Formats: sequence, C-alpha cells, structure tokens
Amino acid sequence: MDAPNATLVERRDLTADVASLLVEPDGRGPAFAPGQYATLGLIADGRPILRPYSMAAPHAGSGAWEFHVRRVRGGALTERLWEVPVGGRLLLGRPRGRFVLDPADERAHLFVATGTGIAPFVAMIRDDLAAGRRRRLAIVHGAAHADELGFRDLLRPLAARPGSRVRYVPSISRPADPRNAGWSGATGRAEQIVGERWAALDLDPADTVAYLCGNPGMVAAAEGALVAHGIARADVHTESYWLERAAPAA
Ligand SMILES: Cc1cc2nc3c(=O)[nH]c(=O)nc-3n(C[C@H](O)[C@H](O)[C@H](O)COP(=O)(O)OP(=O)(O)OC[C@H]3O[C@@H](n4cnc5c(N)ncnc54)[C@H](O)[C@@H]3O)c2cc1C
Repeated sequence: MDAPNATLVERRDLTADVASLLVEPDGRGPAFAPGQYATLGLIADGRPILRPYSMAAPHAGSGAWEFHVRRVRGGALTERLWEVPVGGRLLLGRPRGRFVLDPADERAHLFVATGTGIAPFVAMIRDDLAAGRRRRLAIVHGAAHADELGFRDLLRPLAARPGSRVRYVPSISRPADPRNAGWSGATGRAEQIVGERWAALDLDPADTVAYLCGNPGMVAAAEGALVAHGIARADVHTESYWLERAAPAA
C-alpha cells in the first residue's frame, strides 16, 4: 500500500496524547468483525509508515471507521499522525485479526484493557447492544490518568441502568497525581483489579471467558491472575499492543 486511500474526516481529542480518529476509506470499505484491527498510516519522506489499530466501531461496510489512538512520544507514526489535519489523506489496510468474540457464547465476558486497549471492546459492546445479546459483560479499564479513560460516556450509563448486565470498573494507577484530583473511583492497575479485587467483579470462573488488551505487562499479569482464579487458560484471549522490551543483558 503506497498511495493514500482514506481521509481523516474527524478527530476528537481526549487529552493532548489520546484521540479518537474517524477515518473514511475511499469507496465502500470492507466489513470487519468487532475486535479486528487494520493498518493505518501515512507516507513520510516518500515511504509508508504503517501500524495496526483496532477499530472501535462495529461492522462498518461504509462510512468512517473509528480508531482510538495514543500518541507515543518519539513514535514514528503517531507523532506524524498528530500533525495530520482533518481532511488529510491516510493509508488504510484491510481488516485483520482473530481477537473477536463468538456471538453464540453466552457465558459472562470479562474485558480487561489499559489505555487505548479499550477500543476493540467498545466495538464488541456496541455490536452486542445492536444485536440485542443478553450476555453479562464486566469491563475493567485501567489508565494512569482519569482523563485517559476513553468511552466513559458510553460505558458508565450502560452500567448504571437498573438491573444492568454490564459491570464497569474504570481505575487509575496514579491517584496522587494532581491531574487525577477529584477522582472517586477505583485505584490500582487493571491487573490488580482482576487479581486482588476479583470477588467484587462477581464472576463465576467456570462460566466466564476473558479478553485482555493493551499493555503487554498488564496482559501477562492479568492472564496469570485469571488462571489462578480458576479461568481455563484456553478461555483467556489476549491482544498486546506492543512488545515488552527485552531486559538488558546482565
Ligand atoms: C493488533 C494491534 C492493535 C493495536 N491497536 C491500537 C489501538 O487501537 N490504539 C493504539 O493507540 N495503539 C494500538 N496499537 C499500537 C500501535 O500499533 C503502535 O505500536 C503505536 O501507535 C506506536 O506506533 P508509533 O509508530 O508511534 O511508535 P513506534 O515508533 O512504532 O514505537 C515506539 C515504541 O513505543 C512503544 N509503544 C508502542 N505503543 C505504545 C503505547 N501505547 N504506550 C507506550 N509505549 C508504546 C513500543 O515499545 C515501541 O517499540 C496496536 C498494536 C497492535 C499489535
């Protein structure tokens, strides 16, 4: 892919470093399953720079695709992506990935995310709502700062409905940071919530399937915690957004 084939039609900035980007493919884009990703990128110095990003909107055979992206300081693509104005042209690949749900699985679904790792779960939740599925959903979303907890406006009201089948636990890992002043919700990393505060999630391990997405450290720690709580390893599905850097040789 070396010619732009999509347009940035809207951006919604959550913080200086986290934004939702609406990207419209030229023509009729392919359909995708909630949880899949596509490569997004641009051409810099005559060469394409592409990275994978999860779609946060369900099946979109036409219209814009929503991405939820963190700017990584010094990152090759995201630093440049932050310079693209609305109307700017982008590269957009085909949907890929197996981090998808079984629509017929009626067990409780536990979604654990850090930061922009909430994106595939938003697509899955929107799809469940649209399809009228009744399975229980528990969402644990961790971030350093409260203002980085994207999609709270979607998730909080869902969980607050009387008799809701949705449990939503947003949590911040730096409660002492002045940026988090006024936060009255849970504190601690996402893996601590599923590890140390498992009982509060009110899930039966024998009847739960788990999906983990985002920071590779969280994914590994939460997977270990869930298996220790009795969830079968085959029922823990993971998507890590980057590779943990190897420890320097001793
Ligand atoms: C399947 C998949 C789906 C993804 N979906 C999303 C998504 O929906 N939203 C999103 O924001 N990102 C997502 N990512 C991460 C994304 O592909 C890029 O890795 C990220 O945006 C950094 O790209 P870059 O070119 O700016 O940085 P690079 O120059 O490629 O990377 C610099 C270094 O930063 C580290 N890094 C990468 N991402 C992060 C991060 N978020 N926080 C801290 N360090 C990081 C890595 O160690 C990397 O080597 C996904 C990754 C995968 C594999």
